[in-house]
Amino acid sequence: MADLVVVGSVALDSVKTPFGKVTEALGGSATYFSYAASFFTQVRVVGAVGNDFPREHLELLSSRGVDVTALEVLPGQKTFRWTGEYGFDLNEARTLDVQLNAFAAFKPKLGPVHRKAGFLFLANIDPVLQLEVLEQMERPALIALDTMNFWIEGKRADLLRVLARVDVLLINDAEARMLAREPNLIKAARTIGEMGPRTVVIKRGEYGALLVSSGQFFFAPAYPLEAVFDPTGAGDTFAGGFMGYLAQQDATDPASLRRAMVRGAAMASFTVEDFSLERLKRLERRELEERLLTFADMVRLEG
Ligand code: AMP
Repeated sequence: MADLVVVGSVALDSVKTPFGKVTEALGGSATYFSYAASFFTQVRVVGAVGNDFPREHLELLSSRGVDVTALEVLPGQKTFRWTGEYGFDLNEARTLDVQLNAFAAFKPKLGPVHRKAGFLFLANIDPVLQLEVLEQMERPALIALDTMNFWIEGKRADLLRVLARVDVLLINDAEARMLAREPNLIKAARTIGEMGPRTVVIKRGEYGALLVSSGQFFFAPAYPLEAVFDPTGAGDTFAGGFMGYLAQQDATDPASLRRAMVRGAAMASFTVEDFSLERLKRLERRELEERLLTFADMVRLEG
């Protein structure tokens, strides 16, 4: 089992979907990621919150064994806030407001334990911060990155600089098209591969996720759910299951990448069943095992 470090947002999210809404609920890319990854391995969060961040949220992460010693509480700062909404097409979030707050002032400083970690996930946050963390790592076996339209449009040059140094990019389909400036997803994956990452995972919400690695393809369907309440965090949870599994196995070979895709899809299927981390909080290992078996069944071909 290898250690996994993540840098990303730890947030208070206000989200509206056709099925309800929450105000200032626990969210953030590193939060969903680390909670999901904690089902597989030791995960350590690098990030910052303000002193308005409720203590119980930190305790929740600690209760899962997530190391929050490098999650700094910055005095006089407010926590990152994201406000978004979804229509009936839950695959597309509309961002109404982003307040970087604590992340605008944050300078990550990694301790010796963090620097030595074998696996690194640069979750969705300013690419400048992603690079600052990457540069402090000693020699991770695998570096993966996620990003979003906000950074692709606003900080493209910085993003391309980090991208050149990562092994895996996890990104949703609309963002893959935007990043590659190419409407066809297969061509987009190839163009992105030329930017650095030899493996590209394209998340397509309810339509599953595609892995493109050294000219090989693998597809993990989404779990067929009848009730989806809030897709927020699905991508980060997917990444948490994916990277958590690889770190647990301490492996980066093609067969492990495929198995990791299914762990990612299974974890994400729980997140969307409720708002914020509510469903993940109730998740039992037995339920995860059951869903993994269903996945295996869903893609089995006879003969
Ligand atoms: P996902 O639905 O997996 O793409 O991620 C949603 C999470 O990303 C929410 O919990 C937000 O707090 C967080 N988020 C939204 N916008 C940003 C941004 N510009 N930078 C970092 N995190 C963000």
